[in-house]
Amino acid sequence: GDRPDNELLEGLNPPQREAVTYRGPALLIVAGAGSGKTSVLTRRIASLLWNREAWPSQILAITFTNKAAGEMRERVQHLVGDNAAQGMWISTFHSACVRILRREAQQFGFTKAFTIYDSGDSRALIKRLVKEHEADAFGLTPAAVQGKISKLKNELADAESYARSANMSDPAERIFVDIFADYQRALQRANAFDFDDLIAQTVYLFRAFPHVADVYRRRFRHILVDEYQDTNHAQYALIHELTQPLSEPEGESYGDSGMMIFDAPAADTLPAASLTVVGDSDQSIYAFRGADIRNITEFERDYPGAKVVLLEQNYRSTQNILSAANAVISNNFDRKDKKLWTDVGAGERIVGFTGYSQHDEAQFVADEIDSLRRAGVDYSQMAVFYRTNSQSRALEEIFIRSALPYKIMGGTKFYERAEIKDALAYLVAVANPADEMAVRRILNRPRRGIGDVTETAIARYAADEGITFRDALANSSVLGVGPKIQAGIAQLDAVLAEASEHMLPASGELAPPTAVAEGLQILLQKSGYLDALRASKDPQDEARLENLDELVAVAREFARNNPEGTIIDFLTEVALVSDADDLEDASGSVSLMTLHTAKGLEYDAVFITGVEEDLIPHRISAGEPGGPQEERRLFYVGVTRARQRLFFTLAMTRAQFGEVTVAMPSRFLQEIPADLIDWRQSPGDVNSRGGTQSRALNARRPGGGFGGSGFGTSRRYGEDLVPKSTSIERFANRIPAKVRDNGDLALKPGDRIRHDDFGEGRVDAITGEGAKRVAHVRFDKVGAKKLLVKIAPIEKI
Ligand code: ATP
Ligand code: MG
Repeated sequence: GDRPDNELLEGLNPPQREAVTYRGPALLIVAGAGSGKTSVLTRRIASLLWNREAWPSQILAITFTNKAAGEMRERVQHLVGDNAAQGMWISTFHSACVRILRREAQQFGFTKAFTIYDSGDSRALIKRLVKEHEADAFGLTPAAVQGKISKLKNELADAESYARSANMSDPAERIFVDIFADYQRALQRANAFDFDDLIAQTVYLFRAFPHVADVYRRRFRHILVDEYQDTNHAQYALIHELTQPLSEPEGESYGDSGMMIFDAPAADTLPAASLTVVGDSDQSIYAFRGADIRNITEFERDYPGAKVVLLEQNYRSTQNILSAANAVISNNFDRKDKKLWTDVGAGERIVGFTGYSQHDEAQFVADEIDSLRRAGVDYSQMAVFYRTNSQSRALEEIFIRSALPYKIMGGTKFYERAEIKDALAYLVAVANPADEMAVRRILNRPRRGIGDVTETAIARYAADEGITFRDALANSSVLGVGPKIQAGIAQLDAVLAEASEHMLPASGELAPPTAVAEGLQILLQKSGYLDALRASKDPQDEARLENLDELVAVAREFARNNPEGTIIDFLTEVALVSDADDLEDASGSVSLMTLHTAKGLEYDAVFITGVEEDLIPHRISAGEPGGPQEERRLFYVGVTRARQRLFFTLAMTRAQFGEVTVAMPSRFLQEIPADLIDWRQSPGDVNSRGGTQSRALNARRPGGGFGGSGFGTSRRYGEDLVPKSTSIERFANRIPAKVRDNGDLALKPGDRIRHDDFGEGRVDAITGEGAKRVAHVRFDKVGAKKLLVKIAPIEKI
């Protein structure tokens, strides 16, 4: 190589080195969180390139998110320099499969312009089929059907193979099989793949066309998979196909892909690709999507002779954080015990806080973020996690009011908006005219007077003539519809035709990079879509216009990054945006995300909010086999994201699932040694002292001095909830609460006080009454804080 390998190995511990330098057919790296799995994978790639053992194009690395892929590419680039990292496939399973399918789709009846249906698209299609089959009567809701089809696809089962094993004397099963088969036919007709198909159909392709599989077996000599514990059966099978020996003798053509193979050895000497997988079975959190821990636990059986490397030193977190993580996860049975350790020292204790409500909880988070910022921690180094998306609302409210810059990780939200879906449907109608759903979606958006009757007539005409819906639309004058409708159809047809000409150049010609953004603008303007929004008096339509502007900006940005990118590339990128991928740059803001999204990430300071029963573990997990164990792993994932500071927050009462409930501290808190957590305000503060609990709750009833919280509106919020919560009291006794009762400490503006943690400060104002009396204090060192007078660790000086 250009530079000695030892530079690449610098700072690595011995097992990490081994993981980077081992050469053989199969390598499994199993290790706990933060032990350098992803780093080692990255260096391994760099080492292969560095030593000229592989060309970039011979490497396929699979990460869990597009964002992780981008980071890994950057780091490899950083390690090996220049353009060596180009031509490497570093991507998610889905992106890699899209690339393969775009090249090979014509092999089995698709075109390269196929559409990718996200879960909303496939739900819409399934909804229509459920209605057609009158399946509701058999308890087959669209959601249930979609879930079952997805699960089957992840197991590589199709309608036919499922029918063979199902109990077909059950009418519900028969109808399900019919819907599944119809669904698959509709996708094929629309030249579309749903998300699960991207993987399953690639496996099918490889199995049905060995010469196609061989193309990729020759090409990818080194396959590396991160987060292997979360692969499902279809993903496992895909990797398995790629790591098989060639099925045909060397010397055959390279297939249609025309890929250059570097220095391909003769057939009998070309070994199967080498496979490296890294994972942590304690972090498997996608069983509900078919992830199978056995893929990792049985790796040695599937790849005999595989080398196994264990990493145990954690480089991310302080010992206190690790001890908490170890303590919690050791409660899962059926796992190999491994203990993470670190040499960075104990660090600060974990901080616990129980708010009266989720607003109170959010205020604490905001205040702590503020203090951390003042202490020099960058906003981008802080993250707030929650179990369910709905929990973000209370946090956002307070963050906005406190002018805290934050960013919600979950880029898909933008693409789920109706106006964005409409705009994308226009693009799809151009790129893939066979996609009936897309064309039908825009048929009457904006209103063109094309109603259900006309739509059905066009669909029937298409079916009778054996042509696509789009072609039927173009020829619909034969249907004899009224002149107004005909004019509407003609207008839509003309707009689509004009945009096609703009975005889809004649073969051989290259469209200008701006074609997608310009074509999008043509579609939105000439279809009348923008005019309709502008003419509207609905204030929401103003926001819709802004969102569409944003989409055009995304298209422009895409053109800058991909000068040769086509409309199809653009649609692919948009379709594969996942929860962890941002639209915007998150630098300079606090990141908010679900615990699932947090996987693989790390932050200096982490807040895990809503650490309550029914949230984490989530109540839907209770009935699932293995559910509580998976929730514990999810919690473990959250805890192990933190480098320096970790906070657990709870709310005594929480408005969720449509009602206000009294929350119980999560069982996971009990599993953590008490001395690791410093409770600023524990469940015990509010509950363990006899009678205080009911008083605290009474204080928040209507007229009880807890105005504006909205709790008074719940009918469930009554006396009956109070005395039953004995377990919260029992629980509270286990947590050494910082028992504090300032009673009726008489504070007034101007008083000086001392706080255990914040030091000295001056009272600016007092608001509220009783248990909710709040002192607004300006501390000399940490600035403004709001304190609950009754329980805050303060004294007058
Ligand atoms: P997770 O299980 O959360 O995915 P991981 O095992 O992939 O974690 P990494 O993200 O690769 O762990 O590494 C965790 C942190 O430790 C990173 O900040 C990384 O840079 C650092 N790190 C890894 N190995 C070393 C090392 N030998 N010396 C110093 N820092 C290291
Ligand atoms: Mg990792």
